[in-house]
Amino acid sequence: MRPRPPTYGHFRDVAAELDRSGAAIFRDTDGVESLVIRYPYSINYIHSYAEDSAFFLGLAEGKLRGSRCRRPKCRFVYATPRGHCMIDGAPTEWVDLPLEGRVHSWTTCRFGSEAFLKETPYNLAMIEFEGVGSLLLARVKDAVESDFYVGMPVRAVFDPNPKYLATDIWFVPQR
Ligand SMILES: [Zn+2]
Repeated sequence: MRPRPPTYGHFRDVAAELDRSGAAIFRDTDGVESLVIRYPYSINYIHSYAEDSAFFLGLAEGKLRGSRCRRPKCRFVYATPRGHCMIDGAPTEWVDLPLEGRVHSWTTCRFGSEAFLKETPYNLAMIEFEGVGSLLLARVKDAVESDFYVGMPVRAVFDPNPKYLATDIWFVPQR
């Protein structure tokens, strides 16, 4: 028989235990226990960004690109790029967004998918930009939950070793 895996109340401790022994128990604040195992899994996923390519190429160049409606009477700007305007269906064009914005809303995540497990707990925020009509969902680093407030100024940081993933950008508080 195998001894019962150790129990932790923080997911980062669970993640560390998974690295050590491959199994741990997470106990949440209600006392509910979840057995968590490490299960190696690997595939090569060939994925085309197609019309979104300029967004990911931009992140690698230190640019945050959104899209703007081409129709002169609309010109709505989307922080999350769209090939066509949601208001009138007209095609959009690429625009560079400001690299400074403000926190519109946020949450602190105590669980995460594999890519975020080691940074748990981490912050996700909806970022608003001057002159931009929609919000961008991104991580905010170098801040704890109690630092946040509506309107908190943040600036973009780009991964110096970009991987052409949405995680190539995050935000930090402007201090
Ligand atoms: Zn439009």
